[in-house]
Amino acid sequence: MDRKERHRHEQKNSSDSDDNYVPYVPVKQRKLQKLQKLGRVIQIQDENRKLPGSSENSGNEEDWDPLAPLAKSRPDVSLLDQHNDLIKLAEAQQESKLEKQLKEEEEILASVARERALMGVAELAKGIQYEHPIKTGWHPPHWVLEKGKSYHQRTRRKMMILVEGEELPPPLTRFIDMKFPPTIIRALRKRDIIIPTPIQAQGLPTVLSGRDMIGIAFTGSGKTLVFALPIIMFCLEQEVKMPFIRDEGPYGLIICPSRELAKQTHEVIQYFCTELLESGFPELRVCLAIGGEPVTNAMSVIHRGVHIAVATPGRLMDLLDKKKMHLDTCRYLCMDEADRMIDLGFEEDVRTIFSFFKGQRQTLLFSATMPKKIQNFARSALVKPITVNVGRAGAASMEVIQEVEYVKQEARMVYLLSCLQKTPPPVLIFAEKKQDVDAIHEYLLLKGVEAVAIHGGKDQEERTRGVKAFKNHEKDVLVATDVASKGLDFPDIKHVINYDMPEDIENYVHRIGRTGRSGKTGVATTFINKTCQESVLLDLKHLLLEAKQKVPPFLDALQSESEKYLDLGDERGCSFCGGLGHRITDCPKLEAMQHKQASNIGRKDYLAFGTSDY
Ligand code: ADP
Ligand code: MG
Repeated sequence: MDRKERHRHEQKNSSDSDDNYVPYVPVKQRKLQKLQKLGRVIQIQDENRKLPGSSENSGNEEDWDPLAPLAKSRPDVSLLDQHNDLIKLAEAQQESKLEKQLKEEEEILASVARERALMGVAELAKGIQYEHPIKTGWHPPHWVLEKGKSYHQRTRRKMMILVEGEELPPPLTRFIDMKFPPTIIRALRKRDIIIPTPIQAQGLPTVLSGRDMIGIAFTGSGKTLVFALPIIMFCLEQEVKMPFIRDEGPYGLIICPSRELAKQTHEVIQYFCTELLESGFPELRVCLAIGGEPVTNAMSVIHRGVHIAVATPGRLMDLLDKKKMHLDTCRYLCMDEADRMIDLGFEEDVRTIFSFFKGQRQTLLFSATMPKKIQNFARSALVKPITVNVGRAGAASMEVIQEVEYVKQEARMVYLLSCLQKTPPPVLIFAEKKQDVDAIHEYLLLKGVEAVAIHGGKDQEERTRGVKAFKNHEKDVLVATDVASKGLDFPDIKHVINYDMPEDIENYVHRIGRTGRSGKTGVATTFINKTCQESVLLDLKHLLLEAKQKVPPFLDALQSESEKYLDLGDERGCSFCGGLGHRITDCPKLEAMQHKQASNIGRKDYLAFGTSDY
């Protein structure tokens, strides 16, 4: 029976009795059904055709209406069977919808990732592609290798380490197995670092054996040492073989997204170098190249021959451009908080920096959040990389108790004061805007709270002084913009207060990650209200669910259309930004980026991202 005929037939019937009424299917839905016809639904359709009572429907496939056979009266099929058929059909429809969603997502991700590879122009131009990882003189101990791969895998499972890549080095559960000299072991012990954390157990052997690596582990899990210790060992090896001469180096380069983080990383490396020097090892020189500090500081180290440079992208580009520093002998590149760096609009800078390298380097990327998009994009710059992942990429530290409170926009300042009473100091307060930071700072000072503030609008000296006073416990409260949210390791922060919800959920993860570090617990309080974007609130809701935290009723009440797709495939949440509350198909960040790109067409000024803060 073709459609017309059926229609007539139905019309006739419906006038007789309502039982035979076939519901109207809107055009949009009919189109969808047509599309789905090629997928799973057709299998069910075939099954249905075989069902007694549905045989008359086996006419023209084009006109097939999936609900029609079941909506018709089938006197010889029990109601229960009809009901089951309906459920089956609905499931099939749902499944093919999911497939469609997955396919669409894959396409979006591919189109975003394909854009441009993270490669230096010289390499691109010459078509150079390195095939093999750099060889180093380091090998895992024999007795560990002899235990076999399944033993290594068991160790990884115990430590919740996920690895991807070829020829994986084994995880090592003691620093002495990594063959560090006794001085380093002693220096670690002095800082109460006795047992490697999971990212260190797998990451250090990976980096020491010369492999490229993407390291993802939650905030405060000790990522710094994973890239700091190996470069110190490599430089020591070089220096012993042939001392660095004037204007030589650096051999290793570490890039950080903020000046404060660069300073902190520099201090950590300097600490180990000093310890080595005091034990009779040769001197290793580490230079700090960051904006806001006189260039002469860095230059004086560079002139003597520099082993390791720690830098922010802006100052580094400046030094390279003016030929004050070169990367001819640089063989080791690490980007800390790599995804944040790309996110802040440093992508083009990073590409330029890559083009200054001559020859192959070992490349390392670290962060607590690393959306798939960044991983794909970065892979083009890596040679046979190993991804080491401890906990889901983007997960907040489980040591942080996350509290979310509804506070009206205008009531926040007053509430802040009572919120400060929750824990003893030190407390960190984050706000998105510089003006808010200043206003909070002023208000707290007025109320007699020992507070300091830092943001991109303050000069470097003031920023440094503020961070130092807070680190030394001279001040109880630090008020800051997101400059202080990435990578900074303040000791024993008890409480992080988010005066506002950051626009990106990753920034939220990094902010609250300033507390609950190296095994201690901390509290994070976040103020939200009607002004917050719904998409970021949904991400927050799912992050809280994932971290097994209490979800307040107003967040719980938030529902989105795409929520039902959230657990699709192997990627949870959004593969573009890593948010858990939506899929890439409704990612507000992707949309914003595309919008920005569209409005930037024809404009060369890519620095319109407001990077001045960093
Ligand atoms: P991340 O970069 O992962 O956020 P950091 O490298 O800044 O974390 O380390 C956070 C803190 O943990 C530092 O104070 C560091 O000294 C400490 N730490 C690092 N490794 C260990 C370890 N194996 N055991 C105990 N504490 C550690
Ligand atoms: Mg770090």
